Amino acid sequence: MMEISKEQKYLLDMLKTHEYPIHTAIRRIFEFLSEKPEDELLDPRWLDIWNRYKRYAPRVVPSKVIKKIDEIISPIKPYDEEIWKIKIDEGTKVTFLLGAGASAPSGIPTVDKLLSELWKRARKIGREDLDRLAEWCEKRGITNIEDLLTAAYISNFAARNRNITSLLDYFIFSGGRELLEEEEYFIRRGRLLRNAEIDVSSISFLQDTLQTLFGLLTSTMISASPNPAHQAIVDFIKEHKNTSIVTTNYDGCMDEALLREKIPFKGTIGGKNENNPNAVQLIKMHGSINWAYCDSCQDVQEFDLLELKKIYEEDRLSYPVMGICKKCGGLRRPLLVPPLSFKFLMFPNLIDIWNSARQAIEEADYLIIVGYSFSEADTYITKIISRSMSMKNNQKMIIVNTNPNLVPILRERFSAHIDGFNEKRILKACESCEQILPKILNSMLGKRTSATKTRSISKKLKKHDEKTRCPTITEHQCV
Ligand SMILES: [Zn+2]
Repeated sequence: MMEISKEQKYLLDMLKTHEYPIHTAIRRIFEFLSEKPEDELLDPRWLDIWNRYKRYAPRVVPSKVIKKIDEIISPIKPYDEEIWKIKIDEGTKVTFLLGAGASAPSGIPTVDKLLSELWKRARKIGREDLDRLAEWCEKRGITNIEDLLTAAYISNFAARNRNITSLLDYFIFSGGRELLEEEEYFIRRGRLLRNAEIDVSSISFLQDTLQTLFGLLTSTMISASPNPAHQAIVDFIKEHKNTSIVTTNYDGCMDEALLREKIPFKGTIGGKNENNPNAVQLIKMHGSINWAYCDSCQDVQEFDLLELKKIYEEDRLSYPVMGICKKCGGLRRPLLVPPLSFKFLMFPNLIDIWNSARQAIEEADYLIIVGYSFSEADTYITKIISRSMSMKNNQKMIIVNTNPNLVPILRERFSAHIDGFNEKRILKACESCEQILPKILNSMLGKRTSATKTRSISKKLKKHDEKTRCPTITEHQCV
């Protein structure tokens, strides 16, 4: 199965924003659909788009063309029908895995927007080395915050150890072989730099500053509020206790949705409710905006999320990122795992949390994976899911994600790793999680979602949100 091509994506974007006059649009649709390779996937957005244009079509093209387009588009399904057949009972273990896409409807910026925000903040500090780095990255089209923080981390680590620096030189530049003339030239230029004393303190200072800026950036997520997907999970938990939630998000949306309905949860740093049999597991793998740890004594603290949010909104927060450890006087920082390619190296305090995430994933009969992109960098999570799917051959995944390419990629990946893998164990729900998740969860509980019910959820959330501001990155905390 071929993925969705660039041409298809481009055409869909153009059609969505009404870039073409109607007759051109319909002709483009027909041309694309009749000429595309037979095995290229079709984006579920075609259903809506064709519905919109179809009524104008008789004026523009002959009826057999309309029939042909209908034939191609009507089999597209944004979700696998098997999803609606799933029924659970008390013994069925359900584990949610939430990624950035689950918080996107709450207005939280996705990873690809973070780097430009980071540079905006960096410019305010007025430090020459940061400005130079920003300019260098912009010139080379480096837009991924994960690449930047990872490189800064590796450099800081390598600069402290001469042997590692020279081994990096071997692996990356020469591999110990004879060099071509032009390679020699580049390496000689590089060597000049490397022979000069490496300024360890400035590299580590730069890394530190980048990480602090990242902490500042994410602390503005405090004002984000739960969206209908979070609410749907809470409503589900009320009826199905045998549920765990694993999330890679730092924001407090899921926590807040549970707190609002007074559902106790455990698994967080604070350790309260640990012995409460009614508490649901909420495992925040990458930390949380309301957790802090001390650089010196490793003491970890959890702060009351709703109180923190209130203080932030009333502009009474004096130390949004750094504080002082009461035990040892050391520097207290937010316990957030920055986007690094090897996250686990950073925070030994999170090992227990990561272990419980693995357990919650392995125990699940159904893994409901919402807005999680299975990125290359999250090797740990991808590996535990893959291990769990191969150990437990009746485990199923429901992938709620607006990227239509994700499920075909996963099916291919799991088939390659697991002998005789049945692709039907991965079920697709390719629609915004706010829309589809409430329907899926109700159906699993054997309930029907009525339109009034969906409206009442939105109304309930809206009422809450009117009191709070929209979570945008504000100019609020100048650095
Ligand atoms: Zn301390």
